[in-house]
Amino acid sequence: MARFNRQQTPPIYSDPKRYLPFLRQDFQRQCAYCERTESFLGGEDHFEVDHFRPEQKFKSLRATYENLYYSCRKCNSHKSATWPTAYQISRGLVFSDPCVEDPYELHLREKSDGGLDELTPCGAYTNGHIRLDRPMLRDWRLQRHQAKIDLQVFGNAEDVLLRALDFAGHGSRDEIDAVLEAIRRNIERLQTEFLIS
Ligand SMILES: [Zn+2]
Repeated sequence: MARFNRQQTPPIYSDPKRYLPFLRQDFQRQCAYCERTESFLGGEDHFEVDHFRPEQKFKSLRATYENLYYSCRKCNSHKSATWPTAYQISRGLVFSDPCVEDPYELHLREKSDGGLDELTPCGAYTNGHIRLDRPMLRDWRLQRHQAKIDLQVFGNAEDVLLRALDFAGHGSRDEIDAVLEAIRRNIERLQTEFLIS
């Protein structure tokens, strides 16, 4: 199953940058390659338009929406104008396309230290050229993993406190409410930052 499914139907533009608002929606405000979110990276300024098939080699696709991907600056600069040769393609050395499949299901596997195992030639090519195993991304994956655990803990704590509210005396109700509010703020922050629902 594709990692990202396009829903937007933008008008035809000649300047690829004009597609950015549509790409933001279709890629759920996260990088097509490393999956880091706008919220995690500090806003949309950290993102730009990537040409999946590089514009230097596929000039006719320069402003074709389906060839444009929402990418963080780092992934875009690592990927650059790289494209496999016919020989490489015949050996499966291609970029995994997150609009066709889920790279992290089929070609790369996340390890417990946040690093990546390459499962296929496609995984090796994609990781090698976009450098998805770089330390910053290991850290991102570790933090996302921890966020999933924390969200579960926060969810349970919320239930416990809600039950406690029923039995609490007047004085402690305010205290419990304050803790509940803090928990909910953190749940929301983690959900936005790591796109975990
Ligand atoms: Zn990225």
